[in-house]
Amino acid sequence: MISYDIQEWGKPLQQAIKAQPVPQGTEVLIQVKYCGICHSDVHIRDGYFDLGGGKKFHMSERGMKPPVTMGHEPFGTVISAGPQVQNAPVGQDVLIYPWTGCGECPRCLEGMDNWCPTPRFLGIQRPGGYGQYMLVPHPRYLIDASGLDPAYAPVLACSGLTTYSAARKLMPCAPSDAIVVMGAGGLGLMAVAMLKALGHQQIVVCEIDARKWPAAQALGAQLTLDPSQPDAAAQLAALPGGVWGVLDLVGAQATATLGLAALRKGGRYVVVGLYGGEIPLSLVPMAQRAITVQGSYVGSPQELREVVALAQSGRLARTPTQVCPPSQISDALDQLKAGQVIGRMVAQWV
Ligand SMILES: [Zn+2]
Ligand SMILES: [Zn+2]
Repeated sequence: MISYDIQEWGKPLQQAIKAQPVPQGTEVLIQVKYCGICHSDVHIRDGYFDLGGGKKFHMSERGMKPPVTMGHEPFGTVISAGPQVQNAPVGQDVLIYPWTGCGECPRCLEGMDNWCPTPRFLGIQRPGGYGQYMLVPHPRYLIDASGLDPAYAPVLACSGLTTYSAARKLMPCAPSDAIVVMGAGGLGLMAVAMLKALGHQQIVVCEIDARKWPAAQALGAQLTLDPSQPDAAAQLAALPGGVWGVLDLVGAQATATLGLAALRKGGRYVVVGLYGGEIPLSLVPMAQRAITVQGSYVGSPQELREVVALAQSGRLARTPTQVCPPSQISDALDQLKAGQVIGRMVAQWV
């Protein structure tokens, strides 16, 4: 089989030829058809995430060392399964939940694999969909996405799931409660589509690049504004009913400061973006305003099933995707790094 691997941190992916893996125990062998090319792979290929303030998070500190086969948004056909799997859906096309944990700890056993203290994510710590074939540790991570375009379904496993899980953390609230989305990049646009699909009626997008506003408006944002303008905080404060929730898909000092200040009493600020930075948090007003500050990281297998059902219902507006051959994954990562991609790119194996 062919795969496109990180052979050296910071260098282009290299083609590798290797033996097709053989499923053991509860594992399932998948022939990958499509795999989304995520912006976070740009950072993984570089070998680190920039945490801001001169701090870096190195992939090698997570025990990762090349060669690494990335690709955490795979969609493919079930080929075979290990001896402990009964009734494997051989021949069926499935979306794969990539945020797998150890499979044995209390978090994994209760279905919160994304909160496992020893993550073993597909396409990060385990080989992923930038290879022709891959192993999934258990059939419970196979998700029936029938009816969805297989070139689009992969993005649901990452940006779709991430924004859904974050948006659910704003519940319960009224459909008319104002929700502010920080950032209108790939995740921000998906967040707008997701909030709209979940019935929110007052969605406000803060984005410094006005060229991204029309896409946000087309997906359902009522108001788009430039958060770097001096009147940004006043505009948010003037929203009818005040701001109930903020989804921060940037996660920078400026977006957190603006978002927290905008909340009405009892409001919720959910940070998802990994841009990086720090804020001082004054405790007395946090108590007096009864606000919640919460982080959100990808989502659970059950949440991915709910995202797929939402897409199957037709309520989730589709964000743009472009298809490319797997040999161009590394070039696609270069384009993502340069900010040249509109929407998402998806590699097509078959
Ligand atoms: Zn991703
Ligand atoms: Zn675990």
